Amino acid sequence: SPKYKNIVQKLKESLPKDLLDLIKKIGEFADEFGVNAYIVGGFVRDLILGRKNFDVDIVIEGDATEFAKKVAKKANAKVHTFERFKTATVVFPDGFRIDFASARTEVYKAPGALPEVDMAPLKKDLMRRDFTINTLAIKLNKKEFGKLIDFFGGLRDIKDRKIRILHSLSFVEDPTRILRALRFATRYRFELGKHTEKLLKIAVQRKLFKTVEGQRIYHELKQIFLEDNPLRVVNKLAYYKVLSSIFPTIVWDKKKKDLFERIRKVIIWHKLNFQEKEIRYDLLYFGALLIGQSFQKIDTYLDNLSVPEKDREILKEILLKASYLLKEVNKERKNSEIYKLVSRFKEEVLLFAASLTEEEWKREKILEYLKSWRFTKPAVTGDNLKAIGLKPGPIFREILNELKYRLIDKEIPEDKEKQLDFVKFLIKEEEKYAKR
Ligand code: ATP
Repeated sequence: SPKYKNIVQKLKESLPKDLLDLIKKIGEFADEFGVNAYIVGGFVRDLILGRKNFDVDIVIEGDATEFAKKVAKKANAKVHTFERFKTATVVFPDGFRIDFASARTEVYKAPGALPEVDMAPLKKDLMRRDFTINTLAIKLNKKEFGKLIDFFGGLRDIKDRKIRILHSLSFVEDPTRILRALRFATRYRFELGKHTEKLLKIAVQRKLFKTVEGQRIYHELKQIFLEDNPLRVVNKLAYYKVLSSIFPTIVWDKKKKDLFERIRKVIIWHKLNFQEKEIRYDLLYFGALLIGQSFQKIDTYLDNLSVPEKDREILKEILLKASYLLKEVNKERKNSEIYKLVSRFKEEVLLFAASLTEEEWKREKILEYLKSWRFTKPAVTGDNLKAIGLKPGPIFREILNELKYRLIDKEIPEDKEKQLDFVKFLIKEEEKYAKR
């Protein structure tokens, strides 16, 4: 029989007030519509571990799409429903999202099959999950709000810091769980359960990855590269021979580990300075894994993993252009020349090049471009140029660019008047030259 424990207090401590109010409201709606509602999975796991996670997944014992539509209507929110899977996403006016899924109530039985053991739909839903730590649920209905539901010993395993599968065929059923197990083990610094570890090793030995669609493996690899420290996950992938099973020709040596480490530092620096959401940090790590392989080999790997065209393009740029760029950045060049060179490349290429080089000064030049050169603007504007009697035309762009380069090379001061004096000087020189 399931064990219950109340964690209302934890919810109150950990959630922003408006989120707490929202999930209470959802519990009340559930009462109103006569269904049971539960928060499940990663949110509950991370709540217990004290880790911030506001990805709310709700399971409804009943039709989640109908429920989500009603919630959306009441909350003046948008709803996207996926009727085929009976799931829905509600997007609230402030942009916050909640996913709803239906716990399967109907039971498909073969004719003449033995009657199935009567099981709560929620339990059946949770039974299909990967690890015990992901099977916890919190009931939201008012009368039992905050009840922790633990059918599979997830709470114990969180306390014991163990990753455990739910049944012996789990890795056979879905080998991508091998990648997930090592990712979660690394992230939480949990160990694999003894039985789980044994079955994982057997699954790897049997080369079960060959039976999985490439894009599902790629999805999990991407999740690994988006972790805080992919190096530690890949160490585990190598240890359990998962890496060689997916990429037989890739050697996980000191050189690659060092590159992973430098990429991490560059990414931390970049995130600290900029909040650019679109940067594909994951592809820097993937590039680091692939670099050194022949392009033919790389193509085969990317084909096998069904890597999307957009990702392939970024990867190709990274792998083709970063080393070229590093060769071109040399001590003979002025900063403005390096500026002109590197401004042609995608940000991912620059971050990869900055990680790839073992020469500190080259890394600093590239990071300086990202941090300041590319934002450099002369104090002088087009209007100022008009005011000193210049006719607008392509010359304006040339003058302003020249000022920018001189600023990057620290050859002219920041002061606007002095910059204008420099412009006048430039024009005089031009005229002298033209007369000759
Ligand atoms: P993260 O913090 O990385 O987002 P998560 O637990 O939310 O972790 P997701 O990959 O978003 O992970 O998956 C959501 C839930 O779906 C998980 O809690 C897990 O139980 C379940 N799940 C995902 N992939 C699988 C799988 N391959 N097999 C079984 N269950 C899975």
